[in-house]
Amino acid sequence: MGAEQLNIPTLDLPRVVIIGGGFAGLKLAKGIDSSLYQTVLIDRNNYHTFQPLMYQVASSGLEPDSIAYPLRKVFKGKKRFHFRMADVIQVDESSKTLQTSIGPIKYDILVIATGADSNFFGMENVKKYSMPMKNLVESLNLRSRILTNFEKALNTTDLSEQEALMSFVIVGGGPTGVELAGALAELKKQILPKDYPDLDIRKMQIHIVEASDRLLANMSETASVKTEKFLKKMDVNVWLGTQVKDYDGKQVITSKHVFNSKTLVWAAGVQGVPPAGLNATIVRGNRILTDEFNKVVEKENVFAIGDVAQIKSDQAPNGHPMLASVAGQQGSKLAKNLNALAKNITMQPFSYADKGTMATIGRNLAVVDLPFFSFSGLFAWLTWMFVHLMLLVDYRSRLVVFVNWAWSYLNYDKGTRLIVRTSEDKSSID
Ligand SMILES: Cc1cc2nc3c(=O)[nH]c(=O)nc-3n(C[C@H](O)[C@H](O)[C@H](O)COP(=O)(O)OP(=O)(O)OC[C@H]3O[C@@H](n4cnc5c(N)ncnc54)[C@H](O)[C@@H]3O)c2cc1C
Repeated sequence: MGAEQLNIPTLDLPRVVIIGGGFAGLKLAKGIDSSLYQTVLIDRNNYHTFQPLMYQVASSGLEPDSIAYPLRKVFKGKKRFHFRMADVIQVDESSKTLQTSIGPIKYDILVIATGADSNFFGMENVKKYSMPMKNLVESLNLRSRILTNFEKALNTTDLSEQEALMSFVIVGGGPTGVELAGALAELKKQILPKDYPDLDIRKMQIHIVEASDRLLANMSETASVKTEKFLKKMDVNVWLGTQVKDYDGKQVITSKHVFNSKTLVWAAGVQGVPPAGLNATIVRGNRILTDEFNKVVEKENVFAIGDVAQIKSDQAPNGHPMLASVAGQQGSKLAKNLNALAKNITMQPFSYADKGTMATIGRNLAVVDLPFFSFSGLFAWLTWMFVHLMLLVDYRSRLVVFVNWAWSYLNYDKGTRLIVRTSEDKSSID
């Protein structure tokens, strides 16, 4: 028994401290048996973010509160559970203590579920001037930037300046890049001409730049081909085999072309964000190496799950993809394993059940790869919508998102075209 830390009582039960209330941390904390452990969940935000729909916040389709959910509400009524909103600054393994922005906290078992952040591959200028979309604040910043650009384009007589304001370069042809490009194309076609009748919206250019030779490289060839076709039909310029080299906030230098653009969206790379102080094996993508039980290699009481972790397994020699489904399944599995551990039952290795991958490009257009076959078009789009609605945390979010989608579909409208400036606002760069 020790002194109380963060006003959390010390019990005669082992304490599991989880860093991160994302897909992995949330499932884990939900599954831990309160009669076996005291659980402390720490996140720098007081909400869980449904990242797959962030591009819709950035493109004025949804409000942030329909894809973010208060963590305290998720765990309402859960016994021996404590949430603390704090930044974890350092792990001190020798004293089994975390240093956080609100003070230290001891753990018996530590689970790292800190996710991933943008990787700019050492390009400092790109990092400085581009707009990433890895969290809710960045999505709102991007939305502000897009709309502010049109407000500015309306007021300038300098044609080159206007071109730069109305050109959007998205780097990365994965699901995020593809979905955002499609959403911008819909804005161009359906919304902006009505909002800006004094501006020739045909001048708006959307470019998607991808280093490899196809879009959605992690999906089937069929899905890649269809996606490229859909995007081109929607007036998106697709640049394959093209690498971004530099950006000064005005010109994007790529291996093939120079774009005059004030908005470079970075959707090209992510890397794990392990907490400082952890003396672990870090592998490709800045991920913590774990065994098949999600235990950090060569540690006794430290686990890592989700995007920040890479399992050493035969099923995925290079690690599982950084996906919400992988993170959620790892969280659920680890909860079962920790509950088993407390009862001296043998833990089971993690095995990923791949239920398929999908991406949406626009109205009635999506691609779906299931383990045994692929399909695209209207049915894929309906599938995408149904799956994403069901994955949202609660009924309220599902209803709000569904109503927004139905409204947009029937009225060719998007209801949330507000320029909301945030504390990390980058939208005012001249
Ligand atoms: C734009 C976008 C679109 C995506 N689309 C899809 C998709 O369609 N399908 C799919 O399967 N996956 C998608 N993904 C990937 C998916 O969101 C991730 O794989 C998933 O979020 C990983 O879950 P996680 O729990 O590991 O991390 P996260 O969900 O990122 O959660 C990490 C949590 O840790 C907290 N945290 C981090 N560091 C600290 C710290 N030091 N102190 C306190 N708290 C901390 C963060 O605030 C966050 O809440 C997308 C991701 C993005 C960014």
